Amino acid sequence: MYQPKSPKAEEFISHEEILEILEYAKNNKSNRELIEQLISKATLCKGLTHREAAVLLECDQPDLTERIFQLAKEIKQRFYGNRIVMFAPLYLSNHCVNGCVYCPYHAKNKTIGRRKLTQEEIRKEVIALQDMGHKRLALEAGEHPTLNPIEYILESIRTIYSIKHKNGAIRRVNVNIAATTVENYRRLKEAGIGTYILFQETYHKANYESLHPTGPKSNYAYHTEAMDRAMEGGIDDVGLGVLFGLNTYRYDFVGLLMHAEHLEARFGVGPHTISVPRICPADDINTNDFPDAISDDTFSKIVAVIRISVPYTGMIISTRESQESRRRVLELGVSQISGGSRTSVGGYAEEDRSEENSAQFDVSDTRTLDEIVGWLLDLGYLPSFCTACYREGRTGDRFMSLVKSGQIANCCAPNALMTLKEYLEDYASDDIRRKGIALIRQEAEQIPNPKIKEITLRRLKEIEEGKRDFRF
Ligand code: SF4
Ligand code: SF4
Repeated sequence: MYQPKSPKAEEFISHEEILEILEYAKNNKSNRELIEQLISKATLCKGLTHREAAVLLECDQPDLTERIFQLAKEIKQRFYGNRIVMFAPLYLSNHCVNGCVYCPYHAKNKTIGRRKLTQEEIRKEVIALQDMGHKRLALEAGEHPTLNPIEYILESIRTIYSIKHKNGAIRRVNVNIAATTVENYRRLKEAGIGTYILFQETYHKANYESLHPTGPKSNYAYHTEAMDRAMEGGIDDVGLGVLFGLNTYRYDFVGLLMHAEHLEARFGVGPHTISVPRICPADDINTNDFPDAISDDTFSKIVAVIRISVPYTGMIISTRESQESRRRVLELGVSQISGGSRTSVGGYAEEDRSEENSAQFDVSDTRTLDEIVGWLLDLGYLPSFCTACYREGRTGDRFMSLVKSGQIANCCAPNALMTLKEYLEDYASDDIRRKGIALIRQEAEQIPNPKIKEITLRRLKEIEEGKRDFRF
């Protein structure tokens, strides 16, 4: 039985309910009347249930599919404007005791170079990231109880926050580490993390178990209930995600939205973000082994339907995706992207090492951060290095109520302008600085609230004069 408030994985992700919904969605894929009703409901920007979203994902009517895409673009514009938040992953260690068959860090892979950064090496990585202009990191580490214990992660977070190099600073550290205990989540919260991110990989229990044959991650319930423990430990911003292509995308799409509904039902706050990675090639991993890998068109449709189903949840894609694929999903719903990423341990400070095979996945979009900022500006987006919310205590339900009332836009837009201005002053190439300054001038004029506009213009001037780190 599906029970969204249950703390048990097999009740809030109900296999029987998902199968029933997939059948229902298939039977209604051409039901124009129902699909039109659901599109109208989504227009209200209050979201859709997993059952409703499944029907839209299945829709086989080209004109209605086009309306879904159009609505996703409108909702994206309404909640996120033209802002795109930038971040970078930082790989601390690729030692791992798990046996995930899709990941080159799996314990049995003997060909990959293994490495764990020392605190001194982390300092070098962070300085390299700061010199690129990054302010927001996502920490990544394999699961290893003795080599990567929680104490190592906590120490690394302290190191990262302590480094101030020139005008650089990492202001928000999101963490993507293995499922752990309530007590460890509490310690992560105390260390000042932003979002705790954990990908479910797949919600299909039987497939999950065969994809994770060994190691602690093979425990489906422990992994699936991790976000509950994180919330019990006081982390109220959590990020969900599945690795599309491991299992049938329809099943995981419904599971993902069920998980979001569960968090909302049990804790009163849905996921802060949803990431949408797809299976991709890597050392010892051949995508031909994954017949459920999805096409670009399906990927776009997934992003669009997620956007209209959970309008308040940020969406993230990484450099696994190509430039063209990223361009397409940016307009449909993605609000955060990584840039200039290295997916190997130590890859930022020692560029040569990035050629070694210690990477978790092959990067498709290999452009530098500056090139990506320039590309976003050319497409009419406003790259943002904002990290304000959690530093101002706007997390969990406090954050969500501001988003739902639309008031967050009063913070996001000026913060985007001020952090972009910092980037342009400190890190951009001349050409990109010129383009960025023109956009800032244009956007600042459009700030609707006269008081906020006046403060923003003043602070932009102060940034030019050397001051840093303003925020609303
Ligand atoms: Fe380890 Fe994570 Fe890779 Fe699994 S996906 S092998 S847990 S690093
Ligand atoms: Fe994100 Fe908050 Fe900054 Fe808006 S103000 S971009 S929601 S951190």
